[in-house]
Amino acid sequence: MQELDTPTFRLAVAQFDQAAEAMGLDPNLRERLKLPQRSLVVSLPVRMDDGRVEVFTGYRVQHDSSRGPSKGGVRYHPDVNLGEVAALAMWMTWKCALAGLPYGGAKGGVAVAPKQLSPAELQRLTRRYAAEIFPLIGPDKDIPAPDVGTDAQIMAWMMDTYSQQVGYAVPGVVTGKPLSIGGSLGREEATGRGVVYVTHEVLRHLKLSLDGASVAIQGFGNVGSHTARIMHEHGARIIAVSDVNGGLYSNKGLDITALLRRDPSQPLHESKLGDAITNEELLQLDCTVLVPAALSEQITANNANSLRCRILSEGANGPTTLEADRILADKGIFVIPDILANSGGVIVSYFEWVQDLQRFFWSATDIQDRLHDIITSAFQRTLHFSTERRVSMRMAALMSGIDQVAQAHLQRGLYP
Ligand code: GLU
Repeated sequence: MQELDTPTFRLAVAQFDQAAEAMGLDPNLRERLKLPQRSLVVSLPVRMDDGRVEVFTGYRVQHDSSRGPSKGGVRYHPDVNLGEVAALAMWMTWKCALAGLPYGGAKGGVAVAPKQLSPAELQRLTRRYAAEIFPLIGPDKDIPAPDVGTDAQIMAWMMDTYSQQVGYAVPGVVTGKPLSIGGSLGREEATGRGVVYVTHEVLRHLKLSLDGASVAIQGFGNVGSHTARIMHEHGARIIAVSDVNGGLYSNKGLDITALLRRDPSQPLHESKLGDAITNEELLQLDCTVLVPAALSEQITANNANSLRCRILSEGANGPTTLEADRILADKGIFVIPDILANSGGVIVSYFEWVQDLQRFFWSATDIQDRLHDIITSAFQRTLHFSTERRVSMRMAALMSGIDQVAQAHLQRGLYP
C-alpha cells in the first residue's frame, strides 16, 4: 500500500521481516501481519478562534485484534502520517502480546502542532476527531490513550464525546484519563516507572547498580521527565536531559527537582540549570544508561558508532534503525527494546481499563507492584529467549510477541 511507505513504516516492517525469518513464521501469516487490519483517515474541520475553519487530517489504525480489543495512543504532531501511525500500531500489537495483555495493537494521530492551538481550539479538534473515529472505538473494540502531544485532558474530552453519543458515561473507552472520571493512580508516570523497573533489572543482570549510575535522557515530556524523576529518586545521577530545542548537561548530575519545578513553557537550555548541549551531543555522552524518550529514528547508522553508553533503554517507540542495531551489537551495548522498555504505559492502561470495567479501584501500591511483576517477568522471559536462541534482545522481544499473535491467528482460523 503506497500511502504506508514511509521511513517509520519501513523500519517496523523490516524488524518484522527479520523476526519472521528467524522464527520461521508461517508464510500464510506474513503478508497479513505486515499490514494493518483496518485504517481510517478522517478530515477534521475545526472553527479557529478567529472564525476561520481549518481542516486537519486524523488517523486511527488497528493493526490486529486477534487477541482482544486493539489498544494504543493518539499522537498530536505536525509530522503524523498514515505510515507512522501504522508502524506505531504494529509495535503496539507486539508490545501488548509480549507483556501478556489481552489486547491487539492500534494507534491514532492528528497532523497538528498542539502547542500552536488555544485550549478551546484543541478541545474542538479533539471532539471532532473522537466523533469521526467513533465507529471504530469502544471499550470492547479499540481503546485510545495518550501519546506524544496528548494528555489526560484530551482523553477526558474523548471520553465525554464518546459518552455523549451513546448517552451514558463510558470510562473504559479511553485510558490515561483524569482520576475524577475513572483514571488510574500511577498511569501518568507509568511509562517512566516501567523504564526504571526494566533498566534496574538489566543493571542487576550486568552486576551494576542504579545508585550512582550516570543517565542521559533525550526528551523531557511525559516519559523523559518521569524517568528522570524516578531514576533520581533511586540515586542515579541524571547528567543530561533535552527537549526539541536542545538540552542541559552537568557531570555532577542535574537538579531534577528544580527542572521539574520550572515554568514548563521555558525551553530547557534557557533554564541555566546546567550547560547547554545539543540533542546530538546528548546521544554521544559517556554514561551508564542512555534513554531516548522522544521520537523515532534518532539512533541511526550516522551516529550509532559514537554512542558511549553501556545500556540503551528505549523509552520512545522506534528510536533505533536496523543498521544502528547492528552497530550497537558490535559495540556490546545492551539494548532494552522499545516494546519492552516502554511497555509500562500500556500495562497500567490495562489496569485502568480493568478497574473501569469492574468499577472497583486499586491502591497506588497495588498498581506499582503489579506493574513491577508484569514488566520484570517480561524482561526475564525476553532475556532467557535471547540467550537460548542466540538472538538480540530486540529480536527476542519481537519473536515472542509475534509468536503469541501467530498462535491466536492459527487457533482462530481464517474467516470465512
Ligand atoms: N502511547 C503509549 C505507548 O506507545 C501507551 C498506549 C496505551 O496506553 O494504550 O505504548
